[in-house]
Amino acid sequence: MVRAFLIKYAEIGIKGKNRYVFENALVRRVSERLERCEGEFIIEKEQGRIYVEAKSAFDQEEVITALTHVFGIAHICPVVLVEDKNFDNVCKELVNHMKEELGEKPFTFKVFAKRSDKKYERKSPEICIDAGAYIIDHMPQATVDVHDPDVKVYVEIRQRAYVYVTSIKGLGGMPVGTADRSMLLLSGGIDSPVAGYMMAKRGVRIEAVYFHAPPYTSERAKQKVVDLARIISEYTGPIQLHIVNFTDIQLYIYDQCPHDELTIIMRRYMMRIAQTIAEERHCLSLITGESVGQVASQTMQSLAATDAVCHMPVFRPVIAFDKNEIIDIAEKINTFETSIQPFEDCCTIFVAKHPVTKPNIEKMENSEKKLAEKIDDMVKKAIEEREILDVRPQ
Ligand code: ATP
Ligand code: MG
Repeated sequence: MVRAFLIKYAEIGIKGKNRYVFENALVRRVSERLERCEGEFIIEKEQGRIYVEAKSAFDQEEVITALTHVFGIAHICPVVLVEDKNFDNVCKELVNHMKEELGEKPFTFKVFAKRSDKKYERKSPEICIDAGAYIIDHMPQATVDVHDPDVKVYVEIRQRAYVYVTSIKGLGGMPVGTADRSMLLLSGGIDSPVAGYMMAKRGVRIEAVYFHAPPYTSERAKQKVVDLARIISEYTGPIQLHIVNFTDIQLYIYDQCPHDELTIIMRRYMMRIAQTIAEERHCLSLITGESVGQVASQTMQSLAATDAVCHMPVFRPVIAFDKNEIIDIAEKINTFETSIQPFEDCCTIFVAKHPVTKPNIEKMENSEKKLAEKIDDMVKKAIEEREILDVRPQ
């Protein structure tokens, strides 16, 4: 019976002297994720791998689902632990496990053996040959193929014996928390949750800011953003969501500035506010879901005009993705259905009929001078009075 999981990690294996930082972060992320599963587990680090061992009854599917939501894991192997490591007993347990996992279908296999217990009755090459012979004797559908086997059979002899034949692909990437912190501009759309997920996959800890414009945007539009943050928190871990009331600023810009520049000027204020909150929260960068050419505010010139107000790097992980490619990821991470719910978000109401697509930064700065009287106080107030939600996975 499966009682443990072997976690193999890929990229963090090559981090040299800092490797332990990555391993410890991965152990913490695995442990946090397993807290939400039924059962008790112990997690051990050992020679480039992590073992999760169940100490009580548990649900195998639930654990695998949990581990396939943790960045930094390349493969997950359900393992049978054999306490009595007498070779015949190990073979018997191995074949039982293979029958359960593989059924009756014909398959080819190769045995891989590892022995850290040097006093064991057989050496690794003998374990391979003898276990292979045992499998063929007990499973008529099995044949050996040492070059391209369907099934890789692992037998590892340590304090106890470990046998496993199944390898489930993990998400890859780096454990969250190994790459500093970033502020995601999270709207209710399809792109920004995907952008946040992609940065978290590289180990970045995410916070988020949403610009809300009641009554022009509804409570349900806001709830949608909270829901999206919750869905991505299944991968990223808890997210502090800063909800900024943008209504007064938006109306003021609408009153004072040329309407074809509204979108860009509003976006520049969003970036400024996001950056101020990011600094306060010790974030080192901003993230948006922009993609070149998607809309008027995402031409190269428009992106330059929004970047011009930021001194932090602005990461746009979907910048070169087609909408379809972004949707594929949104479906995979389960945000798509929520993103397409039809509640207006901030920008849709104040969109000009003919927005500028090649904004001139100087002209923009001149238009913004018309806001001088009140805008600083309005920005300050919006930041001070923001609502902060601690969004956690369910
Ligand atoms: P999304 O890009 O999330 O699908 P969208 O395409 O409607 O939504 P745009 O208006 O194109 O969004 O804005 C581009 C980016 O600006 C978004 O990806 C998001 O990062 C940010 N953004 C837009 N509106 C808001 C908002 N109301 N609150 C926070 N961030 C926003
Ligand atoms: Mg978009």
